Amino acid sequence: MDSCQAAADRIRGARRVIAFTGAGVSVESGIPSFRGKTGLWSRYDPECLNIDRFLRSPEQTWPVIRDIFYDYFGQARPNDAHRILSEWERDGLIAGIITQNIDNLHFDAGSRVVHEFHGNSRTLVCLRCGARRLAADTDLHAIPPLCPICGGLLKPDFVFFGEAIPEPARTQAFDEAELADLFLLIGTTGEVGPANLIPRIAKRNGAYIVEINPEPSLYTGSITDIHLAGGAAEIMRKLDELVR
Ligand SMILES: [Zn+2]
Repeated sequence: MDSCQAAADRIRGARRVIAFTGAGVSVESGIPSFRGKTGLWSRYDPECLNIDRFLRSPEQTWPVIRDIFYDYFGQARPNDAHRILSEWERDGLIAGIITQNIDNLHFDAGSRVVHEFHGNSRTLVCLRCGARRLAADTDLHAIPPLCPICGGLLKPDFVFFGEAIPEPARTQAFDEAELADLFLLIGTTGEVGPANLIPRIAKRNGAYIVEINPEPSLYTGSITDIHLAGGAAEIMRKLDELVR
């Protein structure tokens, strides 16, 4: 049987499907990935996202952060993969999404249950008083941007290297790894921990694993039951036709 058809049948027959997404789902929205030969880390120093470095010299790291996450990500729009996942949630085909992305594109596409394991770039948090504000309402050319309430340093509301995974996303993600009977991995290769533990825990709890990635990943051949080779939007369009 065609593997797309087999995956669609599994999705339709599952009790609780969770989509687990990574950088690959946003590539077709124009957001480059961090890793790999043409990834952002080949052009920028990942140390600018180290929390100690940021706290020590925010005036050096903020311009780089602004370049990558605001001037650049700010232009991105959801693609068919985001759109179809949002429709599947509306139609009861998936229970929700766990994403490692910080680009807000699942929410932009209309998804409502999105556990953002690494936080979100759209908001900034004041490291002194804890107030949150939209990056879009903040002058990011003031280096570093400061909290208008207390004057404290503002930090993007996503996880820096050396920081803990935010709650409640962390707990919700690990709970889903126990509840779901099908995990749909999209555009994530399993290199980044601790997020990469979630599908493995789901598998141990009996979940069926469908993987969408252009190339085999660390999940393929270890926990994946069906690997659909291709881009996220292309494969999701195919599945969407078959699942209806
Ligand atoms: Zn403040």
